[in-house]
Amino acid sequence: MMKPRSDAQHICYRSCILRQPYNALHDTDLTRNLQHEIAQGREGSGISSSMARRAIRQIEEPVVSMRVLIVEDSEELADLLAKGLQAAGYEIDLLASVSDASSVLGTTRYAALILDLGLPDGDGLSILRELRHRKDPIPILVLTARGGVEDRVNGLRSGADDYLVKPFAFDELVARLEALLRRPGQMLGSTLRLSNVTFDTDGRQAFVDMKPQNLSAREIAVLELLLRRKGSVVSKKLLEDQIFGLTGDVASNAVEVYVHRLRKQLLDIGAKVKITTIRGVGYVMMESD
Ligand code: CA
Repeated sequence: MMKPRSDAQHICYRSCILRQPYNALHDTDLTRNLQHEIAQGREGSGISSSMARRAIRQIEEPVVSMRVLIVEDSEELADLLAKGLQAAGYEIDLLASVSDASSVLGTTRYAALILDLGLPDGDGLSILRELRHRKDPIPILVLTARGGVEDRVNGLRSGADDYLVKPFAFDELVARLEALLRRPGQMLGSTLRLSNVTFDTDGRQAFVDMKPQNLSAREIAVLELLLRRKGSVVSKKLLEDQIFGLTGDVASNAVEVYVHRLRKQLLDIGAKVKITTIRGVGYVMMESD
């Protein structure tokens, strides 16, 4: 039986069960091994059957909802935020450094970013400036202990949409996040359209000829991304990140499976769009003839 190789890994190993996808990013091999162990139903791993069932459910059926990235190095606060926001229906990814945040934000799209400023390897403001420099419209809520007027002004001028000073009430954070997500922007609050297909990004509802359609959460995630980039190739990796988050435990053909299902659904409901496979690269959505 695979055993965690150190105490630190054991903690991560347990947290993969309890807080997956939260934390799973840090050791994807461990997550895979964990899945294997759960699947094998082995004894002695310290995993109760209810925890195992919950973990399997989370791994197999993550709810594709509003995905929010939290960058916060205080483990206690991060944990609190992640749990609270998950309970409020958000899907949460959690990172604790400027370098991790920069690389992940370069490849993954989030509905919003909750950003701490005092991070172990630098200032969160640098992430903010980098995002705004490349015209990324992601709503950003800055969370910090720096409460001085100058700090707030500096944060807002660097491109933050809102600013919350620690300590804060969790309800206020949720209310502010909701307010940010309601704002119209390039990425949010809009209707995406191609031929007779429309998608309401607020209600997360797809329509064909104005009639609401019943698609699964993952089919909707694929449809949304392809519609946002209509006419352009969307890489398989990007779709994978969008559908499955950062959990790293994705079957190699998972994207093909969901694209195939979506294609069939679109055909069945009379959508005049097609998804073309660009072999080895990704997919592109276009109007069909
Ligand atoms: Ca901090």
